[in-house]
Parts: sequence; structure tokens; C-alpha cells
Amino acid sequence: MPELPEVEVTRQSFAERIAGARITGVRLGKPLRWPLGCAPDALLALTVGEATRRGKYLWLPLSNGGLLMHLGMSGSLAFRETMIVHGLHDHFDLATTRGTLRLTDPRRFGAVVWSPGQNEGVAGKLLASLGLEPFDPAFDGDFLHAALRRRKVSVKQALLAGGIVVGAGNIYACEALFAAGIDPRLRGDKLSRPRSQRLAVAIRQTLARALALGGSTLRDFRDAHGLSGEFQHAACVYGREGLPCHVCGTPVRRIVQGQRSTFFCPNCQRR
Ligand SMILES: [Zn+2]
Repeated sequence: MPELPEVEVTRQSFAERIAGARITGVRLGKPLRWPLGCAPDALLALTVGEATRRGKYLWLPLSNGGLLMHLGMSGSLAFRETMIVHGLHDHFDLATTRGTLRLTDPRRFGAVVWSPGQNEGVAGKLLASLGLEPFDPAFDGDFLHAALRRRKVSVKQALLAGGIVVGAGNIYACEALFAAGIDPRLRGDKLSRPRSQRLAVAIRQTLARALALGGSTLRDFRDAHGLSGEFQHAACVYGREGLPCHVCGTPVRRIVQGQRSTFFCPNCQRR
């Protein structure tokens, strides 16, 4: 599943190149998670601005409203000057004077939705419930501590819900909790202020590292899953059930929390 770092690498791969282009054509494939929200022809001749990211959403501003895009479970976006004939899983093409932006999404949980503004309409509704960006200076130990004090679920599940901070998806939540030495089963409201501080730093560092890996390995972005694969090789606990912890040698454990696998070191991570 594309996570925040993959989405950010995707954004960086086309944001500057598409800015200033004029839309010349729109092609819709099979239905995506949500309908486009306007007639495809209504987008013709609109000018494209520079794409921004909020959580795992991309916002492509247009001279009238904008397009909110999500990669869902299996989506990837590619921007090419000359686009080859669309394949079975290509469900959205935005042709412009600079090239074509194409969404390829085999499972079709992704979406492209027109909205009058980022804070209005469908976009406003979808983005309103998101937590802080991990690199927002307001996301610090004090903020995390105060937010977790209202969560009676495990700290891992509180992170995964995305309402406190965005970007701590399953891999990154597991890795950040390992880096901070926190047992993922600990209840959110039991995490002390100093440990919240360590966790906030760990979340930011884990995501920064994933972004750096993506930036170095996916210069020509084609496969949205390449980064997860790359990061997984560098993971300390994620996907390493039964293998020795890099720090203490204790076998890494896997448990299920809220239907998602959690990997952790029972020795390095404490309640
Ligand atoms: Zn360990």
C-alpha cells in the first residue's frame, strides 16, 4: 500500500514539471473509489498549478478548483511527455500541454475527485479529519502526549488511525515504536511525556529515512511499491518475525492489533 513517503516521492516526480500546463484531454477508465465529481470536459483548457500533499492525498490545483488524488491500495501516478496506449489498469489520464498524468490502479481503491477548493466540497470533507503532518513544527512531544492522553487504545493503533499525526502507516509505526523503545501494546493514555517526546522524534526520523530512500532509488518513478520494498530491507522489526533483533538478538515477535500485523522486540520495547 502506498504510504506517505511514496506519495511524497510521487508528488516530487511531477509537481514542478506539470505546473503551468494546460489540460487538453481527460480519459476515464473503470470507476474508481469515488466519481470524478464533474464532467470530464469541464476540465478542458484549465491551467494546472503545483501539486501539494496532505497525508496520503495529493491536491492538484487548477484554474477552477482542483483535483484531489489518492493512490488507494495499489495505485501509482506517472507523468510522461509521451504516454503509451492505456492498459487494463489505467483508469485516469490527464493529458496536458506538458505531458500526461496517468493513474494506474489494479484494485481501484484510488480516486481522482474534482473539488471547488482544498477546504471545500469533497476535498474539504476528506482532509478535515487528518492529523498533523509529521514535519509540521507543531508536531512535537507535547502535542503527541496531549493527543495520546485521550486515546484508550494501544499507542500503535492510535498512531495508525491517522487522527493525531499522518504518515505513521503500519511499517513506519512499527519502526518508530522500535526506535523509541515503546511496546506497541501500551495504551495511548499511559505514555509519559518524555517517551512521547522520543516517539515524536522517532516518527519524524523514520519517515525522513523512508523519504531519503525513495528519493535515491526512484528517480524515474514508475512503481509506487518500489519504495516500500527498499525500506523493508532496512527495517529493524517490520516483516522480521522470528529473526534476531538487530540490537539485542531476541527474536522479533509478530502480534495482530486491529487486524494489522505488529512487529516488535519484546526485550527492547517496554510498556
Ligand atoms: Zn531487541
